[in-house]
Amino acid sequence: MSDEGEAVVAAVAAVADRLETERSQLTDLDSAIGDADHGGNMARGWAAAAEAVTELDDPEPSVVVKTAGKTLLSEVGGASGPLYGGSLVFASPELEDGITAESSVAFAETYLEKVQDRGDARVGDKTMVDALVPAVHTFKKSVEVDEMAPVPALAKAVAAAQRGVDFTVPIRASKGRASYLGWRSVGHQDPGATSTLFIMEELLDVATEHLETPEELPEHAESPTVPDGEVTED
Ligand code: ADP
Ligand code: MG
Repeated sequence: MSDEGEAVVAAVAAVADRLETERSQLTDLDSAIGDADHGGNMARGWAAAAEAVTELDDPEPSVVVKTAGKTLLSEVGGASGPLYGGSLVFASPELEDGITAESSVAFAETYLEKVQDRGDARVGDKTMVDALVPAVHTFKKSVEVDEMAPVPALAKAVAAAQRGVDFTVPIRASKGRASYLGWRSVGHQDPGATSTLFIMEELLDVATEHLETPEELPEHAESPTVPDGEVTED
């Protein structure tokens, strides 16, 4: 298995674990403005995806992502199955030549494009798009304009997604099941934006572990020593 393929398999497993941990929180959020199935949908779907990707013979990143997406599509109904699953499948070819800063940006943009294509939601509709749009734009800008490495760029994207999740609380839903509630959806955090944030936090954790190269030590680096005169004795 390639190192990158291994990292993506680890990411799917980490997401599955996290969504199982957050199952009841996501269910509570969806009971307030939906039908209380988002926790179960996400936990069940990603657990099946984690299992499916461990069964791949020679997983490359794009194959792992495509397999996870297809599994979500077949396991999860409702709005979120096609949005998460279909978008992962659609964006997976962007990783065919491996994971670089460039291909990660392309993947994120294509994923967002598909979510918006399929769901027709824009920022302010109180959906996962409210977390995704700022996250993807921040990631792209951090890589392309600020020339940041992928991992710190992803950390900025996660912070942007968090602000997007917070932004869903005071607004009224105009898409999805929550929109049936009209003004009564105000004051509640969107479940899909929240699960999107959890997934991104796990991607960041796994990317930090697998992709970050340790900073090079300066030549002739020595172990840190306590300077004379600063030793305190108890
Ligand atoms: P369902 O709404 O069918 O019960 P889930 O509860 O699993 O499906 O997912 C609900 C989440 O899906 C919402 O919190 C919202 O973030 C997201 N969602 C719903 N409709 C759309 C849409 N048209 N575009 C983007 N996201 C959407
Ligand atoms: Mg629901």
